[in-house]
Amino acid sequence: MIHQDIAKLFKLSNELDTIFNIENNPCKNCSERDNSSIVNIGCCAECVVEEGYFESNNKYQIKLLKLIYRFNHIYGFFDIKYMNCKLPRYIRSRKCSWYMCDKLKMYIDAKKRNTIINEMTNIKKKIGILW
Ligand code: SF4
Ligand code: SF4
Repeated sequence: MIHQDIAKLFKLSNELDTIFNIENNPCKNCSERDNSSIVNIGCCAECVVEEGYFESNNKYQIKLLKLIYRFNHIYGFFDIKYMNCKLPRYIRSRKCSWYMCDKLKMYIDAKKRNTIINEMTNIKKKIGILW
């Protein structure tokens, strides 16, 4: 049943949020991100060319996401006002959900993260949404 799959996707996404929203998360004050003068968006710098790093090739859904989340021609899905990704975690691509730089790796439970992302990807593939 599709609504059960979506409910599961939200639940997993919340779990993923919990893993990443740790108190000492270096992303919150990342030295590679800086909007004080010339905006530097660090590890999301390629978002505009990679269009959110989606691996599935559903052009219609990508177009829709770009419209809904105001894809920017310089910063992609990155929000330079709040210095983070505009996409909620359950919508983000597998690659973006996966990515951790070396600083972040010290804080995140990678095994748990991998299990959750794999489950989320399977659901997305099953119900036909971007992953
Ligand atoms: S993953 Fe690393 S480089 Fe990217 S925002 Fe977080 S701390 Fe900064
Ligand atoms: S996390 Fe968001 S802003 Fe960063 S590359 Fe992925 S889609 Fe773009």
